[in-house]
Formats: sequence, structure tokens, C-alpha cells
Amino acid sequence: METNSSTKIYLQFISYFVVFSLFIAALSSLTNYSFEKERQQQEILNIANQTASIKRIELKRSLHSVEQHLAALTSNPIFKTYIKNPNQQNLQAARNLFLSSAVANINYFQVRYINVDGMEEIRVEKPRNAKQPLLVTQAKLQDKSERYYFQEAKLLDINEYWYSRLDLNIEHGDVEWPLRPTIRVATPTFSEEKFAGIVIINAEISQLMSVLQNSPNFDVYIIDDEGYFLSHPNELYNWGRYLEATEGFEDLFPEISDKILSPHEISDGEWFSFNLTSNLDGIEELKLVFHASEKFVGDLAKKNYEMALYVGLLVLLISIPMGVLIGFAPARLQASLKKANEQNLNSLQVIDQYVVTSRTNTEGIITDVSSAFCVLSGYSREELIGEDHSILKSGSMPSELYENLWNTISKGKIWHGEIKNRTKYGESFWLDITILPEYQHQTLIGYKAVSHDITDKKIFESASEHDPLTGLYNRQKIDLVLEQEAIRVNRYQDDFSVILLDIDFFKIVNDKYDHPVGDLILCEIATILEIRTRTVDVVGRWGGEEFMILCLETPLQGAIDLSEKIRSVIEEHSFSTVGSITASFGVAQFKVNDKVSHFIKRVDDALYEAKQQGRNRVFADIDNKPSREPKG
Ligand code: GH3
Ligand code: MG
Ligand code: MG
Repeated sequence: METNSSTKIYLQFISYFVVFSLFIAALSSLTNYSFEKERQQQEILNIANQTASIKRIELKRSLHSVEQHLAALTSNPIFKTYIKNPNQQNLQAARNLFLSSAVANINYFQVRYINVDGMEEIRVEKPRNAKQPLLVTQAKLQDKSERYYFQEAKLLDINEYWYSRLDLNIEHGDVEWPLRPTIRVATPTFSEEKFAGIVIINAEISQLMSVLQNSPNFDVYIIDDEGYFLSHPNELYNWGRYLEATEGFEDLFPEISDKILSPHEISDGEWFSFNLTSNLDGIEELKLVFHASEKFVGDLAKKNYEMALYVGLLVLLISIPMGVLIGFAPARLQASLKKANEQNLNSLQVIDQYVVTSRTNTEGIITDVSSAFCVLSGYSREELIGEDHSILKSGSMPSELYENLWNTISKGKIWHGEIKNRTKYGESFWLDITILPEYQHQTLIGYKAVSHDITDKKIFESASEHDPLTGLYNRQKIDLVLEQEAIRVNRYQDDFSVILLDIDFFKIVNDKYDHPVGDLILCEIATILEIRTRTVDVVGRWGGEEFMILCLETPLQGAIDLSEKIRSVIEEHSFSTVGSITASFGVAQFKVNDKVSHFIKRVDDALYEAKQQGRNRVFADIDNKPSREPKG
């Protein structure tokens, strides 16, 4: 049974721990996930930055290579000789030089020298499908003096370069088809420090564009200053400005276009923009725009989910066996606490069952009672709670006792005493009561009474003090009161008188009517004495057919008067069976510092005198009356 319950508690603890572990696991997963997500965002940004800078370098490298070719041509001695001395032989040499430069680079489809007047003098051309570049014949050379590239390039200084936009090649006024992305780069040439024309290369940039476009992680867009696409993952949108038929960035991505088209480089969620040409002088402003591809983001997110799952599982894997181990000690503790608690409850139940307790508030209204109290009083708990404690009063206790009780406990002191109570059914029961004040935060809130039933003791005590036949006090009790009174009178100089009564010729009654009739007479006399004396008087059977009345606080005359009254009542009373009976009385008053035995001798002597003088009379020990005046 006990092992069963501690196993239950143990399992309970483990299950708490498992639930707790699940919670912690979920929490760590979630935390890990959000940290990872942030880290992932940073990672995407880093990769975007790297990718952008690679593409910038790539663009710069390509353009720089064209510049180097131009520099090589313009500084070549063959070309310089031709400019200085443009005869047929030098022209032929220069033309061959231009041809070989075009052969050397497959992306160059036009390499030209335009003289100081804007006339083409050397022109190497590589038609779309031709394997090798060709020298255009003299007759086909054209006047380019009005063309923008000539106009702009001729203003430059030595080692300065002019760039066209990155655009499409135009043949005979139309865009060449299939599209041929192109850039033209020109530089002026000088002879003896005088402008001598320009050299210009048309380079196809399809390869460059596809290098710029390519990325495993991002959808890449290259847009110009007006938001037209030069490059788009879907090539239908490429070169929008020149084809005039397609939409720009703003049309395709209105929600992000404001940010992307602003002059700043931005990073917003999965979008990133960079200035592609900001480090290149003379080139149109282009933007490089990345949008993290679904696959890239998806892969990273998947990695993140997996990571969170592993973290969660790991935490669970560690915490469950730990819970099993750690739960063991508190489970044992809990089990023993539970046992102790049960024992405690048991003891409380026993206390409730066997100890008579009650609680009241400060007004004496019952707030709680024990089961033992209910059994003893005959009331149920419900009947008692809310009632005044005085419901139990027997009515036979002196009111001074209750006054003393309340005076004591209302001062917060403990009261102890014996009280006779009455049950619901009117029977008496005696309690030995200790009443303790009860405090809460130093304020008296009521009283607790712990009692025990002393009814049996009281019955026994009463039996040992009373005469079984008449119910009056017995000789022992009378002796005791005599001793106590003697002490009191000696201390307080009080009056105290005693009457001794003896039935006349009782022997004859017994002889004539039998013993039980005599007993009956004794009882009738006892009743008369009880009725005719005051409550403060102590009445007892002194022995045989003799009775004694202790008249407290009474001088001799008072006792004589009382004796006389009782004598005449007995004389006039008609006793059952017997009829008339008389009694003789001896009376004396206690003298201060007298001995009890001596005092009783005087009473006895007075009685003897009453008998001697003829019976049915009162004789008082007047000679030994105290000399001082009796009290008030
Ligand atoms: P006197 O007037 O001188 O007192 O005469 P008396 O007969 O009363 O006195 P005595 O002392 O000779 O007799 C007392 C009698 O009282 C003797 C006894 O039978 C009787 N007696 C004493 N105790 C009891 C009692 O408990 N019951 C009965 N029925 N009689 C008792
Ligand atoms: Mg007698
Ligand atoms: Mg007698």
C-alpha cells in the first residue's frame, strides 16, 4: 500500500519533469530558431554583399581590359608613325595593327580610328556570324563628325576614356537582332601634343551581362537610372529602355520599388540593392538588385527547422533521464510528508474525538467545538456554532464564578476552574475547564476552552460528603466545615453558632414501629431542617438520630431563635405512621481561639441539659457567650 503510493508520487514527479522538459525543449527550440533566423538574415546579407562586390569587380575588370587595349593601340609606334606620317604604307601597317587587335579579342566587333575631322580612317569590323574580323574598304568609310561619341570623346585628354551606355548595337538605324549588348569605349589620340582623332572599340558584352546576371542564390536585376531593366532573370524584360515595349522595375515590383530606386543601397527582407557603377568614372549609373531566391531561403529555413528540432530532441533526451533521477529524492520526501500528514490528521481526529474543546469569539459566541464536546453536551456541532456559550449553563453555579471567569480571560489571562453545565436533555455534567485567550497578530480574537469531564469525580465527591439515608452532609463533612469555620472566625472575629438536635425517645419509635419507620422519620426531619434553614447554613447528620446545623455569621441568639422555630415545627408536624414527635436542642456560639473539640463539648452539654430539663426544649450555653457585642 505504502510502496504503491510512493511509486505513484514518483511517477507524478517524473511526469511533472517530463512536462517541464517538454516546455524547456520547446522554449530552447524556439529561442534557437529565432536566433538562427536572425543569423540567417545576416548570412543572406553577407552573401549578397560578397556577390555584389564580385560583380562590381567583374564589370570593372572587363571595362579596364578595353581601356588597356585602347591604350595599347594609341601608344603603339606603328599607329603613332601613321598619324605622324599618314602615307599609304603606314596606313597599311596601322590597319593590320587594328585588325590584329580585333582578332585578339573575340568580343570586339568594331575597332576604329576616326581622324581629327571625324572621318573614319581605319575600321575593323566583325559581322555577327563571321569567324574573323575584316578591314572595311576605304570606300565604305563614313563621316562620323556629328556623332555623339566623336563629339564627346574629342574633348577628353590623354589617358581619358569615354563610355557609351551599356546598350544594344544599332545597325542601319535599327536594333540588331538577335540582340547584341554592347559598350563603346573611346579615347583621344594625340600627335606632337595635338589632337589627332579618336580610337573607339565596340565591345559585345553578352558574356559580361550573363556573368553579372548569374547567381545560384539570388534573382539578379540590373536596372538603369530610370528603372529600366538591362538584365532580368526572364530575358523578355531585358533592355526595356531600348525595346520600348516592356515594363520597368516599378511596374513589376511596386511594393519595393520606392526603396530600390532611391539613391541608397538598401537591404529589406529578401531584397538588396547596390550601386553597380559607383566606382567607375564616366559610366552611366546602374543598380544591381538581388532578390533572395525561394530555393536559397527555403534551404536556409529548412536547415533552421532541422536545427531547432535537434536542439529540442537533445534537451528532451537529456532531461527525461535526469528527471527520473532527480525526481527520486523529492518523491521520497513527498511520500514521507504525506505519511506524516496522514498521521497528523489521525491524531487531530483522535484529539477531536476524545478531547473536549470549544472556541468562542470575544463575545462568548461559539465558533467551533470538538466532536467530544458534542457527545458530552448532546448538541450537534451545527446547533452549537453561533450560539452563546451560556446555553450550557446549569444555573446552579454562583454568578460570582462567571464574573471572575470573564474578568480573567478578557484581560488575556488563563482561567481554570470547575463548572457544572447542562446537556441538551437537561442532565448535569461537570467540566474541569482551562480557558486560554487566542490571539491573531497580537489582537485578542477569542477564547479556546480545553476541558475534561469530571462528572464521575463530582458524583463520587458528593457521595463521600453526604449521608446516604437523608442526603444531608455526613459527619466527616461537618467536621471539615467546623475546622474551616474555626479558622475563619479566628481570623475575622466573625460570629459562628452551632445547633445540635436529638430526637426524643427515638428508641421507643424504633421498638414500636420497626427500623424502616424510624428511617422514614429521620428523612422527614432532614427535609424540615433543609426547608427551615438558610442556604448559608450547613445542615448535616451528626450520627444516629442527631443532626447538627452550622449557622455561619450567626450570633448565639440567632441560633436560639432558629432552634426554637424548628423545635415548634417538629412538635406540630404530623409524622407518617408515628404521628407526633419532639426533639431537644443544644446551642452554643464559638469563642475566638477556642478549640473545635471544646466547642462541640459545650454544644453537647447544652443538649444534655435540654434533655435533663424534660426534653422538647432548647438549651443555650449562655455562660460561654462571647463577651463583646455581636456584629451588626
Ligand atoms: P432520648 O430522648 O434520651 O434521646 O432517648 P432515645 O431513645 O432517643 O435515645 P437513645 O440514645 O437511647 O436511643 C437512640 C436510638 O436511635 C437507638 C437507635 O435504635 C435509634 N437509631 C439510631 N440510628 C438510627 C437509624 O439510623 N435508624 C433508625 N431507625 N433508628 C436509629
Ligand atoms: Mg441520641
Ligand atoms: Mg434521642
